[in-house]
Amino acid sequence: MQSSLIGKIEKAKRYAEEPERVAISDFTAEFRGENDSHILGLSGGKWHCNCHFFTQWGECVHIMTLQRLLGKMLPQVDSGKSI
Ligand SMILES: [Zn+2]
Repeated sequence: MQSSLIGKIEKAKRYAEEPERVAISDFTAEFRGENDSHILGLSGGKWHCNCHFFTQWGECVHIMTLQRLLGKMLPQVDSGKSI
């Protein structure tokens, strides 16, 4: 393998331990829940999910899970309650 590529791989390993370097903006994800799959994501600074609970409460377990998984990589946004 080229030495320059090896250097990049080493750098990527180091960067991967510093998630605060990454700021995720818009994305969509499929979440496989216990009973059903849901589509959720972040768009224009607002969360959305197609589950029933989110429709009622503007918050749901799928979004809470993504927030835990992505942590520092997420921008500080409100939970989408204004939707
Ligand atoms: Zn949901």
